[in-house]
Amino acid sequence: MKEARQAPINSLWDDAAAASMSEPELLLYRSNLLGSDLRITNFGGGNTSAKVMMADPLTGEQVEVLWVKGSGGDLGSIKLDGFSTLYMDKLQALKSRYRGLAHEDEMVAYLPHCTFNLNPRAASIDTPLHAYIARKHVDHMHPDAVIAIAACANSRDLTQKIFEGELGWLPWQRPGYDLGLKLEQLSQSQPQLKGIILEGHGLFTWGDTAKSCYETTLATIKRAEEWLNANVRQPVFGGQALAPLPAEQRSALAAKLMPLLRGKISRDEYKLGHFDDSAAVLEFVCSRDLEPLAALGTSCPDHFLRTKIRPFVIDFDPGHPDLDAVVAGLDEALERYRADYIAYYERCKHANSPKVRDANPVIYLIPGVGMLSFAKDKATARIAGEFYVNAINVMRGANGVDTYVGLPEQEAFDIEYWLLEEAKLQRMPKPKSLAGRIALVTGGAGGIGQAVAKQLLQEGACVLLTDIDAEALAEAKGALAKVAGKDSIASAVANITSEEAVEEILTASALQFGGVDLLISNAGIASSAPLEDTTLEIWQRNQDILVKGYFLASRAAFRMMKQQKLGGSMVFVASKNGLVASAGASAYCTAKAAEIHLARCIALEGAPHGIRVNVVNPDAVIRGSRIWDGKWKQERAQSNKIDADDVEAFYRDRSMLKLSVLPEDIAEAVYFLASDKAAKSTGNILNVDAGNAGAFTR
Ligand code: NAD
Repeated sequence: MKEARQAPINSLWDDAAAASMSEPELLLYRSNLLGSDLRITNFGGGNTSAKVMMADPLTGEQVEVLWVKGSGGDLGSIKLDGFSTLYMDKLQALKSRYRGLAHEDEMVAYLPHCTFNLNPRAASIDTPLHAYIARKHVDHMHPDAVIAIAACANSRDLTQKIFEGELGWLPWQRPGYDLGLKLEQLSQSQPQLKGIILEGHGLFTWGDTAKSCYETTLATIKRAEEWLNANVRQPVFGGQALAPLPAEQRSALAAKLMPLLRGKISRDEYKLGHFDDSAAVLEFVCSRDLEPLAALGTSCPDHFLRTKIRPFVIDFDPGHPDLDAVVAGLDEALERYRADYIAYYERCKHANSPKVRDANPVIYLIPGVGMLSFAKDKATARIAGEFYVNAINVMRGANGVDTYVGLPEQEAFDIEYWLLEEAKLQRMPKPKSLAGRIALVTGGAGGIGQAVAKQLLQEGACVLLTDIDAEALAEAKGALAKVAGKDSIASAVANITSEEAVEEILTASALQFGGVDLLISNAGIASSAPLEDTTLEIWQRNQDILVKGYFLASRAAFRMMKQQKLGGSMVFVASKNGLVASAGASAYCTAKAAEIHLARCIALEGAPHGIRVNVVNPDAVIRGSRIWDGKWKQERAQSNKIDADDVEAFYRDRSMLKLSVLPEDIAEAVYFLASDKAAKSTGNILNVDAGNAGAFTR
């Protein structure tokens, strides 16, 4: 994740590190430095380039090659393979093909013909913007401070005033081939320029070396920041209209609202949520100008592509915090927002525009509380929130020194529904089977819990992993984050037998992701003792963890699922021992049998709400299981009169199929029952035990 650093923007260039780098490596180095600071450019925003002499693979002759950030990706984490490479002479020759502004989109199809060295990285729409500026190194950034100047009504005069002729200025134009030619023309006609501000968009800067380009970019942003800081009128946003609620109340309110809201906007596609109550957000949502500024919409194309042109302001008074009143008015307010969005589409659409997209808001501003953002996955929701913070910074700067202007509606539409943008969306891979779903996995630090979490993550779900063992949980979360990325996994330490702790897990799930769709109730222990040696303590421990714990987790999840009105799916990881009585394990077997029956009872109550409940019964999952690390293995070995090392082979040979059961096998069954593949199954039991006749169900 990028940092929004507070320290001044200073050069991080390390001459010693750069000394041995080739030109492409210097481009990469510069790009990573620029992309690691949110003040310099937003996520996925901006691009960099270098024109490098290289040997042509066909002729061996030296040719000029444009290395430019390719389509997609982010400068902060880009690697060399994220850059496209194109012959400069071919890019120049393309000019003879250009038929004028009305036909500029067709130029995109020519770019693959300019590819150097069979590089598969697709060239981005911004490629001509870099190619035609006749400088060796070019940066294109989206710094909040510069966009603030670019989004002012008097942006041209301000650019002159602040940069005293060092930067040129071009009026708003959708990025594309034609803008590339305009940049060429201006940079050539005024050779003294160090860069150009694009109205309503961002900044171009250049240099003869990678280092000088980087430093010019930084110096330009710094100058803009310092000028704004010195000149922004106080108080910003018309001053504070209301005081923010205390932090705890803010997050409690957000956690209550998120599942309700999520339910209302996830009818066609499951959404995931993100909550932000940082100082920058609170200043805006508590200000007098909140409503009028929010209505103006965002300016930079990158911003509104992520955030939609306008946010949704929730009617909430932190002076009289009445959540019920908010909820009562939500349906109507959301309907108004959707109707507005559809009217905007109808007003602006062209004959060949793509179909209208999801009309629900992305950004939700709550006075005194903060901001929620919802999108089809967690990273997109988080990034949309970050973009709106960029937009807030832009509004603060622009309105503080001049008049902030959003993009004209038609221009915004033409970007949002640009056929090239639509083609990008169409190229996106099909969503995974659990995309947008939120899973809560109890006992998540254990063998089966981790395997289940891994599979659900791989199928596109977000997972809140919970366990009583803090150390093992942190380790499991770290390992799973490597599989699925940090955004999709969260963890919460909790004892599943505590009513309060279970409520807190559900609150954490709501706050972290927006609610809950799948509950995998799996936390457990095993114990064995002949009846006469079964102490009340052993008995109670089994009842507490395996019965009370499953009851508490499912009750809390059931309540949240009902609120969301999106159905849901629960899977209880019980045991073969819940069906087959086992001598010397009465406490465990009885508790597991109760678990299974509890699942069936909830299946009955859940069906009218689309909530399914099923059971997976593992048996003898020795590898990976922490249950089998401890006393249980010794006890089972003793009771079966075998060596502890032979336990796995013993159970394998005891099974009908003569196979060992692995955590991944249980995960596969859990995934099946949790997912829509089992949409028509509830109240069922799936044994994953390599065959055990005693466990055959009716
Ligand atoms: P495991 O010990 O590896 O994992 C169980 C996890 O539950 C552990 O991380 C533990 O810390 C956690 N836990 C225990 N008490 C808790 C509490 N009070 N609150 C929160 N978390 C708690 O074991 P596993 O093999 O992965 O077992 C997972 C489930 O599968 C259990 O319910 C178990 O009974 C069941 N099961 C396992 C087997 C097997 O052979 N491994 C067979 C049948 C059933």
